[in-house]
Amino acid sequence: LPNVGKSTIFNALTRTSVPAANYPFCTIDPNVGAVPVPDSRLAALARLVPTERVVPTMMEFVDIAGLVKGASEGEGLGNQFLSHIQQVDAVAHVVRCFEDDQVVHVSGSVDPRRDLEIIATELALRDLAVVSSAISRVEKLANSGDKDSRAMLEALRAAAEPLNDARPVRGILGTLGAAAQDILRPMNLLTAKPLLYVANVSEHGGDNPHLAVVRGLAAEEGAAVVPICGAIEAQIAALESEDERREFLQAEGLSEPGLNRLIREGHALLGLITFFTVGPKEDRAWTVRRGAAAPEAAGKIHSDMARGFIRAEVIAYDDFITAGSEAAARTQGTLRIEGKEYVVQDGDLMHFRFSV
Ligand code: GDP
Repeated sequence: LPNVGKSTIFNALTRTSVPAANYPFCTIDPNVGAVPVPDSRLAALARLVPTERVVPTMMEFVDIAGLVKGASEGEGLGNQFLSHIQQVDAVAHVVRCFEDDQVVHVSGSVDPRRDLEIIATELALRDLAVVSSAISRVEKLANSGDKDSRAMLEALRAAAEPLNDARPVRGILGTLGAAAQDILRPMNLLTAKPLLYVANVSEHGGDNPHLAVVRGLAAEEGAAVVPICGAIEAQIAALESEDERREFLQAEGLSEPGLNRLIREGHALLGLITFFTVGPKEDRAWTVRRGAAAPEAAGKIHSDMARGFIRAEVIAYDDFITAGSEAAARTQGTLRIEGKEYVVQDGDLMHFRFSV
């Protein structure tokens, strides 16, 4: 919704996390920002393997303008904003949980249950329109007995079922067969995307009944909730030096900016894991899909490494910390030689051998 703190949080997000030097696409456009994924493991590795530069892995955030009731029917530039949502891999839905008479609420009061329902309904209505028009396109062919069209119609009808009750497709996706999922995935339905809630809570702390409501609703959907105070995050972002930020966090009794949690949760929500490469030139964190095999990870570094992949030398993060160096891990027998079937684990230190 408008006025819930999306831009405040987005601006703090992209300003607090000053992107690593040498990273070419920091500000992509005013509404898109690349932020480093905070990972204390990378700093720990850099202490063991001194290097010229330390490069975190990055994640892109997009600030999408607020929807209003009726957006799915084109109300308030609705369709345009909905199409922006279509382009992202996951949604962070910001919900207003802070009371502040100075900040107008579009519906006149702070009520996360009503707010979530408005947005969920708009998104579901938009998906329903997409699914319904697809149904009417394939129905005729399906009825004439065409096998592919019949499978398609079945998948579309399965998706329409929750949407008719203004519920997301996300919830039933896992219950469908692989074939149906393959049909629905390219449709890029908004309610099929992974989602987490960002509860924008008050800077005055204390028990927040609004937050409890969001937690309850999220639990029903199995979604994560990240409580963040936009006002505090904006203050942290406005501080110039690392020292000032540390002092401010300490005074607020916080161990890290709330945004760090948002970035980490987002990374996990997308089904992403981190692997590391270390060396005298660069200690670096990389992102890869959970479940990816070694050559796919190698391809993140260079396509030649994927094409000419021979093997990977792998040390689990904890083993590396225990050993203290690659040589010690080798002697201790924790350095493993893995082939192209190896499924990369979160935290793996990897060294790829390849030939092209
Ligand atoms: P957007 O329309 O969702 O992008 O909302 P904005 O980020 O523009 O915020 C709307 C208003 O709410 C602005 O006046 C912000 O300063 C204010 N605001 C955002 N977060 C907080 C918060 O945590 N506490 C308070 N009191 N005000 C906030």
